Amino acid sequence: MLDVAIVGAGIAGLTAARSLTDQGQQVALIEKSRGLGGRLATRRLPGTHADHGVCYLKPKGKVFQRLIEEAIAAGVLIPWQPNTYASPLGITAFAKWLAQGLTLHTGERAIALSHNTHWSITTDSGLEISAKKLLLAIPAPQAIDLLKTWPDTSTEVLTQLQSVTFNPCITAIATYAPQDPIPWQGLPIINDPNLTWIALESSKQISPSHPVLVFHSTAAFAKQQFEADDLTPVGQMLLASAAQVTNLPWLSDPTLLQIHRWRYAFPTAPLNTPYLQAGSNLYLCGDWCLGDRVEAAHRSGLAVAVAIDQSSV
Ligand SMILES: Cc1cc2nc3c(=O)[nH]c(=O)nc-3n(C[C@H](O)[C@H](O)[C@H](O)COP(=O)(O)OP(=O)(O)OC[C@H]3O[C@@H](n4cnc5c(N)ncnc54)[C@H](O)[C@@H]3O)c2cc1C
Repeated sequence: MLDVAIVGAGIAGLTAARSLTDQGQQVALIEKSRGLGGRLATRRLPGTHADHGVCYLKPKGKVFQRLIEEAIAAGVLIPWQPNTYASPLGITAFAKWLAQGLTLHTGERAIALSHNTHWSITTDSGLEISAKKLLLAIPAPQAIDLLKTWPDTSTEVLTQLQSVTFNPCITAIATYAPQDPIPWQGLPIINDPNLTWIALESSKQISPSHPVLVFHSTAAFAKQQFEADDLTPVGQMLLASAAQVTNLPWLSDPTLLQIHRWRYAFPTAPLNTPYLQAGSNLYLCGDWCLGDRVEAAHRSGLAVAVAIDQSSV
């Protein structure tokens, strides 16, 4: 039997798994996607790629700064904009680097939990994993859904989880025919109802053959358009806004356009607690505990790993 089962292989789950494994614990991660990294996400496109979730890492604390320095030394990250770091291979390279040597079950959605003398996690394919301790490293609303299958969750923790809300985001990913150089790499957009951020993704690559850009919507735009049956016109609206605010008309004329919906993109207000404990050897962590960025998820994953290591079964 495992010491710890972790649901969710985003930065929080990977960080906790890395730390617990390094302490000699038997750990396995269960991840519903085929890949890993969660919102650290890279879309593969013909001849290129783009980060359509996390765009860059911007360390504030020394611990995260050190991790980034290690990733730079390993050839995974490079400096991008001032005090920001990205990967020429796509940001999932950072998640894959953290995941080296860890036991992962990808393409497995945890759908039910039960606890007797140990935890048992059932996935949608019928896989059953047993562990002495369980960590849910997933957004709070998804944790609530999963915890509905285990009736003994403390009501205090459920109330805390229910207080966490997320804003959605719609991301457009577009490739273009070769253009004149663009004088920026990342462009925050202020006061536009539709757009909040544009990234020249190809500027992270070593020798890009053509421009690749990613456009992030405002939360208000995402809320309005989230349930649209056809996302192509939604993406075209983002490109039209981008063409207007940048004065680059060619931005509305891509060679390829893909759109991604993030239902749980950014926590609106963190809990300000590093992790939660919801009962008998059951823990929760994620960005929503401490902030809305990768560094917050990393800090939460580290803190919960210490707590799990110190708890007796
Ligand atoms: C569009 C966008 C842009 C962003 N840009 C930046 C940025 O530039 N810099 C920055 O620092 N932060 C950015 N962020 C925020 C950052 O992505 C998050 O703060 C961080 O990645 C959260 O990590 P996490 O591990 O807490 O959660 P997640 O990354 O959400 O990981 C949770 C994982 O759990 C999995 N999962 C959920 N439910 C189940 C289940 N039932 N069974 C199995 N697996 C499950 C999910 O598939 C996912 O892999 C951005 C976010 C978005 C959406």
